[in-house]
Amino acid sequence: MTDFTATRAMFDLPEGVIYLDGNSLGPLPRAAKARVAETVAAEWGQMLITGWNKAGWMAQPMRLGDRIGRLVGAQPGTVVVGDTLSIKVFQALASAVQLRPDRKVILSDTGNFPSDLYMADGLCRMLGRGYSLRTVAPEAVEAAIDETVAAILITEVDYRTGRRHDMARLTAKAHAAGALAIWDLAHSAGAVPVDLAGGGADFAAGCTYKYLNGGPGAPAFIYVAPRHAEAALPALSGWLGHAAPFAFDLDYRPGPGIERMRVGTPPVIQMAALEAALDVWDGVEMADLRTKSLELGDLFIAGVEAACPMLSLATPRANDARGSQVSFRHPEGYAIMQALIARGVIGDFRAPDILRFGFTPLYIGAEEVGRAVEILAEVMAGGLWDRAEYRQRAAVT
Ligand SMILES: *Cc1c(COP(=O)(O)O)cnc(C)c1O
Repeated sequence: MTDFTATRAMFDLPEGVIYLDGNSLGPLPRAAKARVAETVAAEWGQMLITGWNKAGWMAQPMRLGDRIGRLVGAQPGTVVVGDTLSIKVFQALASAVQLRPDRKVILSDTGNFPSDLYMADGLCRMLGRGYSLRTVAPEAVEAAIDETVAAILITEVDYRTGRRHDMARLTAKAHAAGALAIWDLAHSAGAVPVDLAGGGADFAAGCTYKYLNGGPGAPAFIYVAPRHAEAALPALSGWLGHAAPFAFDLDYRPGPGIERMRVGTPPVIQMAALEAALDVWDGVEMADLRTKSLELGDLFIAGVEAACPMLSLATPRANDARGSQVSFRHPEGYAIMQALIARGVIGDFRAPDILRFGFTPLYIGAEEVGRAVEILAEVMAGGLWDRAEYRQRAAVT
C-alpha cells in the first residue's frame, strides 16, 4: 500500500493553501530545493564542463526517461526526456506520418489541447502535398478512423473536462485501419495508470511539470514503441540525436533507438529538479493513486452538487471515463476562481466557462477536499465572486 502521509510530507506547500492545481503545475518537492542547489554549486560550480561526464549530465535524459517509463507502462530504453511537450508532439507526428507515406490525414479531436493541433497543422503546412489535420468531436474519433488516416493524435485526458479516452480501444481501431496511434499523456502521466506497451501505443509524449511535479519549465518526454525505434526518422535531427555526436560528422545519422529523439543540449538544472521529483514516486503504486484520486473526485462532485446547484458538472461522472481532475461550468467561472484563490483554494480557469480542480493524492486528502467544498459553497451562496477585481483577467489563467 502506498503511504500517502509519507508522500505528502515530501512537498513544500505554503501554509493555508489548498492546492487543487497540480494538473497545471505540481508543487515543490522538498528534496528538489537541495538537489538543485547541489547541482548548481557542486556540479556546475565545481565541475564546470567536466560535469557532462563526471556528474552524468549527458546520460540524464535516458535515465529520467526510464524512471518516467515505469509510471506509464513503457519498457526500459523506450522513453527519453527533453524539450517541451509541443516539440515532442511534433516529433512523434513527423515520425508517424513518415512511417505511413501513402496516407495524408492526421486525425485528432476538438477537445485536444490547442498546441497539439497547432503543431499538427504546422507540420501539415510544412509537408504540403495534400497533408491535412482532421478534427472531429471527441465522441466521434472512433468512427472517423479510416484508411486515409496516417495517425491519430489523441490526448488521453481532456485538459478542460477531464474526460478520458479509451487508449487500448482507439489504438486497436487505428491499427485495424492501418494507422498509427500517438498519445499525449499531459494529464495522464502521474495522474492515472497508463499502459503504453500493453495498450499498443506507437508513440506517446507528455510533460513533467504537471502531475510529475518537475517544476515550471521542466522538460517533456517522448516514447517510441520498440517496433518503430529503428525505423522512425526524427524530423528534428539535432546533434544529440546523432549516432556519434562528438564525431562532428557533416552528415546526419540517427542514433540508436529512442536516443535519436534527443535534439540539443539538455536542461541540466531542470533535470535535477525533475530527478528529485521522481524520487517521490519510488514508493507509489499507480493503482493506489488511482483509487484515492477517484475517491477525492467523487467526494468533491458530491459536495459541490449538494451545495452549489448553480454549477454544472463538466466531467464524466463514471470513474472509468475520467482522469484525475473535476471541472464545473459557470458563465462567471473566471471570477469565481479568483474569489476561491483569494481564499486559499487554488484551482484554475479554462475559457470559456470551466472551473478546473485537480486531485493529487500525493499531497491532497479528503479533509482538504471537504474544506474546498465549504469555501466554494460560501463563495457561491454569498455571491462573493461578484466584484470587479475578480473579473480582471491576468495573462495566465
Ligand atoms: C499542458 C499541455 C501542453 C503544453 O505543452 P508545452 O509545450 O509543454 O507548453 C501540450 N499539450 C497538452 C495536451 C497539454 O495538456
